[in-house]
Amino acid sequence: MADPLIRLRGLTRSYEAGEQRITVLDRVDLDIRAGEMVAIVGTSGSGKSTLMNLIGCLDRPSAGSYLYAGQDVSAMDEAARARLRRAHFGFIFQRYQLLADLDATGNVEIPAIYAGAAPGARRARATALLARLGLGERAHHRPGALSGGQQQRVSVARALMNGGEVILADEPTGALDSRSGAELMALLHELNAQGHTIIIVTHDPEVAAQATRVVEIRDGRILSDSGTPAGGAAGDPGALVKDQAGTRRQAPLAGAETGANAATAAESEAGTFAAGADAPGERDGALVRAGRLREALAMALRALNAHRLRSFLTMLGIIIGIASVVSVVALGQGSQQRVLENIASIGTNTITIRAGTGFGDRRASAIRTLTTADAEALAREDFAASVSPEITASQTASRGRVSTSVSLRGVGPGYFDVGAYKTASGTLFGTAAIDRREQVAVLDASALGTFFPDGSDPVGQTVKIGKVPLRVIGTVTAAGASFGPDTPKIFTPWTTAALRVAGSTTLSSITVRVADDTDMSEAEARIQGLILARHGTQDFFLQNSDTIRETITSTAATLTWLVSAIAVISLFVGGIGVMNIMLVSVTERTKEIGVRVAVGARRSDIVAQFLTEAVMVCLLGGLIGIALAFGIGQGVELLRSDIRMSYSAGAALAAFLSSTLIGITFGYLPARRAARLDPVVALTRE
Ligand code: ADP
Ligand code: MG
Repeated sequence: MADPLIRLRGLTRSYEAGEQRITVLDRVDLDIRAGEMVAIVGTSGSGKSTLMNLIGCLDRPSAGSYLYAGQDVSAMDEAARARLRRAHFGFIFQRYQLLADLDATGNVEIPAIYAGAAPGARRARATALLARLGLGERAHHRPGALSGGQQQRVSVARALMNGGEVILADEPTGALDSRSGAELMALLHELNAQGHTIIIVTHDPEVAAQATRVVEIRDGRILSDSGTPAGGAAGDPGALVKDQAGTRRQAPLAGAETGANAATAAESEAGTFAAGADAPGERDGALVRAGRLREALAMALRALNAHRLRSFLTMLGIIIGIASVVSVVALGQGSQQRVLENIASIGTNTITIRAGTGFGDRRASAIRTLTTADAEALAREDFAASVSPEITASQTASRGRVSTSVSLRGVGPGYFDVGAYKTASGTLFGTAAIDRREQVAVLDASALGTFFPDGSDPVGQTVKIGKVPLRVIGTVTAAGASFGPDTPKIFTPWTTAALRVAGSTTLSSITVRVADDTDMSEAEARIQGLILARHGTQDFFLQNSDTIRETITSTAATLTWLVSAIAVISLFVGGIGVMNIMLVSVTERTKEIGVRVAVGARRSDIVAQFLTEAVMVCLLGGLIGIALAFGIGQGVELLRSDIRMSYSAGAALAAFLSSTLIGITFGYLPARRAARLDPVVALTRE
């Protein structure tokens, strides 16, 4: 006689309960042969389910040995036990334990997904199994739309998906009406006749009576065992299909043997049910792993779709974080580009001398030593191609009855070339006007609005600065954004401003255009020497376009970093939000996890499922965030032409990668928690 398929020796399961140790199964010895139909009976709490879970590798014994087909199960690691569950056992539960979000076919397919079966083959087999069990019409119904008996048949199909050599049914009729219960028992008999080993836990004597062998348990010990009739599996009193015990053999772990019989038309379609015969074997390799990843993606999408609002709210933190980082970076880049372009238009060969010790020196306006005499001295130097002084003075300007304070800017002809202003109407003044100290004025938009509120043409009209009349020759508009109160500005030749209007020779700056044949650093040194000799003290500073560019670039970079740091914090908060919801989701789906583990999911499958879900939430959030940032950019550019946002593929890619990273980082903890759930506890959770 062949060795038993299942051999238990001294199998013990005990729980720590505070100080005490509760022994639920106490040194159980039991042999079950391939092809038997065994009923395990006993009162509630006697340890039947515990025994079943140990046989099905859902639980580990505290002591004792368990040999399955000669292999020591207690020595197996988690992955090998998962493989055993997947390839050899099929669970049927009292409460069916179908996943509510999947239709019947989807539920039946699950064990094959974890075995790595190809999608087409898997689907075909699931469909055929359902048809064989009379559920062909219901293949695309969800569990909620099926009766108890139908749901239980779906769970039988799921148990058979990978072969179901041993079917473990824990109170399978417990939740069914008597007719459905009888039908289910008939089905189990049929499967037994085809070679499946069936182990049923029941407290119903009628159900037990249909088995070929009855094992009674009380308080964790075997009270009685009707034993295995001689000749392997016994005759089958309730069998609908004629017993062919002689053909039954123990199916080896590789699962290629069969005790096939009773081949009906439907069965040839489904392949036979016989244990291990037609089960799509376990596959592995790169292609299969890619397939598993695709399954994990599909599962994640389904889960997100099932809770759309919640998924969206979870994503919101990521969306806002990513959108703000991308927008801020784009804004910083855009304004930096614009300023640099303006500088480029000045040319790289200018040096500006300003009063004070550096930018932002608050005493600068009190320093009155930078004068037109300095400008004239510079103009006499051979390295100076042109010299353009600038005077800034606060003056009262009037036209008719309008009288207001303005900023008078005495400038050179090159002033408007640098791109800060655009001509709006009329003309601007040139070198001749400087030489002749012409009393002409150019108004900015604010001055125009102040003195010509009726919109009349200002060109040719007169505006007075104090008592000096200036003829308006043109108007300009600012090219860049201006912040703060918009003081009206009136531009006039610097000679006019110094000698006719302000009556002061104090300058705010002098810009020297260096001759082409002179080296910039040499020119800088000579200007420094000249002005220092004239002033006797370092009360001025020099700027060339390079130093301006550096200042602007570094200021913009600092600002971008600062705001990005805030955005990163918001992304971190978003990530914590994702983790929080994922933890809730794991708790909510404890049962689903238990079912998946029971049908053969590895720990790594569960980790992959939840990690994929977290990454998907973050990635989707990231993509929406990037799209939102681009949308914001479009909107801003429509509304304000003076603001430019510069998007780069690099920033989008960085956002994409960081959302993936957030998903992995914050999804890991929930995923690990899910994988560590005890399947027995998970399945009994209501
Ligand atoms: P049944 O025969 O009704 O299926 P079980 O095998 O489910 O009985 O449970 C047997 C005993 O083990 C019960 O008294 C139950 O309270 C106890 N038990 C089951 N699981 C645990 C656990 N995780 N911790 C402590 N006691 C447990
Ligand atoms: Mg039980």
